[in-house]
Amino acid sequence: MNVPLLDLKAQYRTIKDRVLEITRQVYDSQYFILGPRVEDLEKKIAGYCRTGHAVGVSSGTDALILSLMAAGIGPGDRVISTPYTFFATAGAIARVGATPVFVDIDPDTYNLSPDKLEETIANLPDDALKTVKAVIPVHLYGQCADMDPILEVAAARRWVVIEDAAQAIGAEYKQRRAGSMGDYGCFSFFPSKNLGAFGDGGIVTTGDPQVYNRLKILRVHGSQPKYYHKVVGGNFRLDALQAAIVAVKLDYLDGWTTARQDNAARYRGLFASAGLTDRVHLPVEKENRHIYNQFIIRVDADRDELRSYLGEQGIGTEVYYPVPMHLQDCFSELGYQIGDFPVAEQAANQTLALPIYPELTESQQAYVVEKIGAFFSR
Ligand SMILES: *Cc1c(COP(=O)(O)O)cnc(C)c1O
Repeated sequence: MNVPLLDLKAQYRTIKDRVLEITRQVYDSQYFILGPRVEDLEKKIAGYCRTGHAVGVSSGTDALILSLMAAGIGPGDRVISTPYTFFATAGAIARVGATPVFVDIDPDTYNLSPDKLEETIANLPDDALKTVKAVIPVHLYGQCADMDPILEVAAARRWVVIEDAAQAIGAEYKQRRAGSMGDYGCFSFFPSKNLGAFGDGGIVTTGDPQVYNRLKILRVHGSQPKYYHKVVGGNFRLDALQAAIVAVKLDYLDGWTTARQDNAARYRGLFASAGLTDRVHLPVEKENRHIYNQFIIRVDADRDELRSYLGEQGIGTEVYYPVPMHLQDCFSELGYQIGDFPVAEQAANQTLALPIYPELTESQQAYVVEKIGAFFSR
């Protein structure tokens, strides 16, 4: 049996007619960049995320960079974030000239740990602490970070809060949606995200009308009015074509999320009946609502061996992420060492993403669990 990690063609079959129709309309209009399609998507995403405004941008990475620029963060500033994330989170901090400060993660959710945040603050020298301007919690794999204590610390210290919600559209924390809790919410429409475009795209959410204005100006080279620049921005624009396709797909998102959650529940049942829950640590749901961009298991056994065994059985898996940010070569000047963030390092060595996409079938899931069982009884 073949079980890919993700099967975008299976999803495309169910939406093909509507996507082709909207694509034809955009082609007929010959209106390609920003404009009414993008504005329509911005309204829909702001509504979906229960926040005041949204600004369509060129990618999730650019959503982060634009937010940092709008917050006025640059050289000399420090930004706190997690070492266990996709590179873009830390990369964006470095790209605006600021310095990332990493804080270890919670072993259950893999998200930035509020306790470790307190420890980091206590251990930072005063002159360094003074330069911290923002914190970027990441809602990893589709589950929100423990936001209340993070928001509390940020409010007390006047830090800007930028949520990296690239993997978490529609995820909730105490009834609040990802992207509606901080000053900025950054989303990605990379095709493998739960709401993917047919190319690159992203969006920034905010509840603050002034922030919204700044984002819109910086998105078009800082121009306002056209050809007059009080600030230097960049080209962070979203294509009308991507916006139109994402708007169509948004109609299906809740159905896909439910299917992912059902698949997660089915995996739990299958792993339990197979007697594998001692050897395979399943995702821990601490915050509602988990949208399962990824279903991540952690094993004490040799993860890479398990991965290659499953590959031989036709099962696609992935390691998100093998090298934590503090051990990346490009950040060696920050002076971090192996052992600085043991929980992140353990996650990098022991976790594996299993197929969880909405169209995955029951028999495919049973096959995945059966083969993991076979690996452990070899
Ligand atoms: C995908 C992702 C991004 C970057 O989004 P792109 O659209 O690929 O630029 C940023 N942060 C996290 C956590 C992501 O998963």
